[in-house]
Amino acid sequence: MQIAQDSVALIDYTLTNDEGDVIDSSAGGEPLAYLHGHHNIIPGLEKALVGKVVGDSLKVSIEPAEGYGELNESLIEVVPKHLFSGVDQIEVGMQFHAQTGQGMQVITVTAVEGDEVTVDGNHPLAGQTLHFDVTVKEVRAASAEELEHGHVHGTGGHHH
Ligand code: ZN
Repeated sequence: MQIAQDSVALIDYTLTNDEGDVIDSSAGGEPLAYLHGHHNIIPGLEKALVGKVVGDSLKVSIEPAEGYGELNESLIEVVPKHLFSGVDQIEVGMQFHAQTGQGMQVITVTAVEGDEVTVDGNHPLAGQTLHFDVTVKEVRAASAEELEHGHVHGTGGHHH
């Protein structure tokens, strides 16, 4: 069975950046299960998996536009520390939910200097070319319930 619209596919993957650092991997855990054609995974990876069958391995490099988007400079802001009332110590890498012009967003603290805190509302992988090494472990048709929910149930998917 080939991966196509409404397939459930289970994949083992390793994601590295341009420097070759491993950013994410399914190694040592369950494979990732996703429902094809339902925006479960980034568009570039989904496209590369069309037509693949169990046992296929592929290496694919995905540009930001087909990944987590280009880096949007306007989402990087310097704000005064007092805005983080209730937080004892502001540290680089902390993440907060913030109400922005584009709705609720996750922002990441990228710098702290005196009373100034730099926050970044971009996805941590925005602007990066992503290198995936993927092996297809299983392909099956989705159940009616999975299609209704828009995600996979069971191994590697949602348990509810
Ligand atoms: Zn569900």
